[in-house]
Amino acid sequence: MTDQAPIVIVGTGLSGYSLVREFRKLDKNVPIIMVTADDGVSYSKPMLSTGFTKAKDAEGLAQANTDAMAEQLGVEVRSFTTVTGIDADRHELVLGDQRLGYSKLVLAWGADVIRLTLAGDGLERVHSINDLMDYRAFRKALEGGKRVAIMGAGLIGCEFANDLRNGGYEVDVIAPDTAVMPSLLPEPAARAVQHELTELGVGFHLGTVVDRVDHSATGVRLTLANGETLEADLVVSAVGLRPRTELARAAGIDTGKGIKVNRALETSAADVYALGDCAEVDGQVLLYVLPLMACARALAKTLAGERTDVRYGTMPIMIKTPCCPTAVCPPPAGAEGDWQFEQDGSDVKALFTSPAGEVLGFAVTGRFAVEKQTLAKEVPPIHPG
Ligand SMILES: Cc1cc2nc3c(=O)[nH]c(=O)nc-3n(C[C@H](O)[C@H](O)[C@H](O)COP(=O)(O)OP(=O)(O)OC[C@H]3O[C@@H](n4cnc5c(N)ncnc54)[C@H](O)[C@@H]3O)c2cc1C
Repeated sequence: MTDQAPIVIVGTGLSGYSLVREFRKLDKNVPIIMVTADDGVSYSKPMLSTGFTKAKDAEGLAQANTDAMAEQLGVEVRSFTTVTGIDADRHELVLGDQRLGYSKLVLAWGADVIRLTLAGDGLERVHSINDLMDYRAFRKALEGGKRVAIMGAGLIGCEFANDLRNGGYEVDVIAPDTAVMPSLLPEPAARAVQHELTELGVGFHLGTVVDRVDHSATGVRLTLANGETLEADLVVSAVGLRPRTELARAAGIDTGKGIKVNRALETSAADVYALGDCAEVDGQVLLYVLPLMACARALAKTLAGERTDVRYGTMPIMIKTPCCPTAVCPPPAGAEGDWQFEQDGSDVKALFTSPAGEVLGFAVTGRFAVEKQTLAKEVPPIHPG
């Protein structure tokens, strides 16, 4: 490694590109190489679950191609290049049989989808959608079809359910929990979203899981653990994400749920940083855009020479179910307090308050969703001070 070695950033998702955008505001000259396993096209991942609603296919959701990004940001982008290891002692990335030296290395390589082990002969009809290339493949496979089964009723499963209904598809959602988005929403809010999605025509099969996916005369047949069978043309698997930690762990870098970093986004290896879906920042894994943007701003300053801690403010999550607009700001894990509810049909305002009466979190659906900004001001930031 020499001081002339470039800054190397692995990943051209929102984390990688946002970091470079922020860094270039501070330094136009330091050489940067971005390495990505995908095509390097810039897009906004949250928009993947709005394609039908906004009448955009994969090409419509692409914002800029790789060459345009390289030119705009003054970087070299190596697309379709997979990192296979990190030699932290030598300050080198391993790319198959090649090596790439770095002065500083940033891991922005996201999270992997969790893949369920299913039985059956129709598994090639099961799609996970975690990037634009997945989305392109999904839209192609869906051509001519009209029935989609979604495994998982979390944020992504519910958003795709709403979007596919808006696109005119028949949609069934299968999930083991008895309510939608159980880790995000208190029950009355979850029921409201489920009710409005049901009104829109989504079929829910909760409290059970998919055991098998087999070819049938008209597409695939799903066999559920409760004995029910469903017909579909395609299956979307939206059962969760897991931060990519394996290569970091193999390189001796500390990992937990994600790649562990402090608030300056430093890993346990010298000159190696992490942000975005792959990172566990000061004990927190938050797979959302607002945290990664805050990290990108702080890390850009650090890389430009002014070591800066990230500070998370209040970070509400907007759930893109237009049939039931919803926003949630979950209370901190383990916070003491209770949920209190105001409800009128599918309009729910839920406040999580501490014994001292302080609002620590909220969930709002339907007509109450417009109160999200006002409520967000009441909730203390994740990192106060
Ligand atoms: C459908 C959907 C809807 C969402 N909606 C919202 C929302 O409304 N609001 C919100 O806040 N968040 C939302 N999210 C989450 C948000 O989109 C993510 O938190 C964010 O996009 C993660 O960005 P990232 O850059 O960290 O990771 P990614 O976008 O996953 O980028 C990872 C990059 O690393 C590369 N890479 C991975 N492994 C390697 C390797 N070994 N070698 C080289 N390159 C590698 C990949 O090719 C890619 O370029 C949504 C997510 C999905 C899937």
